[in-house]
Amino acid sequence: MSSPTMGGREGSLEAPTRHPLDWKNPEFYDEAALDKELERVFDICHGCRRCFSLCNSFPTLFDLVDASSTGEVDGVAKSAYWDVVDHCYLCDMCFMTKCPYVPPHPWNVDFPHLMLRAKAVKEKQGGHRFRDKLLSNTRGVGNIAGIPVVAEIVNAVNHSSIGRKLLDVTLGVDVTAPIPNYYSDTGTNRAKRASGRAMAVRPTDETRGKVALFVTCYGHRNEPQLPEDLAVVFEHNGIPVKVVGKEKCCGMPKL
Ligand code: SF4
Ligand code: SF4
Repeated sequence: MSSPTMGGREGSLEAPTRHPLDWKNPEFYDEAALDKELERVFDICHGCRRCFSLCNSFPTLFDLVDASSTGEVDGVAKSAYWDVVDHCYLCDMCFMTKCPYVPPHPWNVDFPHLMLRAKAVKEKQGGHRFRDKLLSNTRGVGNIAGIPVVAEIVNAVNHSSIGRKLLDVTLGVDVTAPIPNYYSDTGTNRAKRASGRAMAVRPTDETRGKVALFVTCYGHRNEPQLPEDLAVVFEHNGIPVKVVGKEKCCGMPKL
């Protein structure tokens, strides 16, 4: 490993500290500064490799390093860093469960926050394509594809070989990738119909005895039976359910 990582002690036994993202600082969006920090953290990860099995970001990074002419991070083209960034879906597992070098350790590794910063830089530079914006707009696509009659047509096209080829050519959706069905009878409506019975709320020492149900975009248009079943099970067990109803996209698909 190269010099920036030398001198710190191995691992930390202290609870992780999370520093807020410095997103109002102009340097946050400076690509050269970002590249420098990516190289520093990638170098630490290359020397550690604990996270090889967590997601596709780490194997992508380690494969790039192993295939480079130097066998080190300095041999990896900066343009290839984006492959690593693209594979991170910000589950936070590496930070929360694996990494011994998170703050307060002096190496200050926060891999998910660094990936988030890189995605913000890409967005600022207009690096996200139309297909990225469309496919990550789960609620918007669902609201159009889930219109009665339209839903049946969309589902039929999505299950035909011509439709899949069209999706591949126009939006880059691989013909073998699983894609969901769209439903006009939404999960929100189904869960509302399945809940709302008048019943006494019975709090316990640890719970309030009632549930607020967030259906989610996917549960709303693509898997409506899930929130419906959940509401039925809760109410069967005497736990009243209130469907939140006015949900907005949490933004997760865009990350
Ligand atoms: S936060 Fe990103 S890099 Fe870390 S484990 Fe999750 S997907 Fe992988
Ligand atoms: S995020 Fe931490 S634990 Fe994971 S590979 Fe990098 S340095 Fe190792």
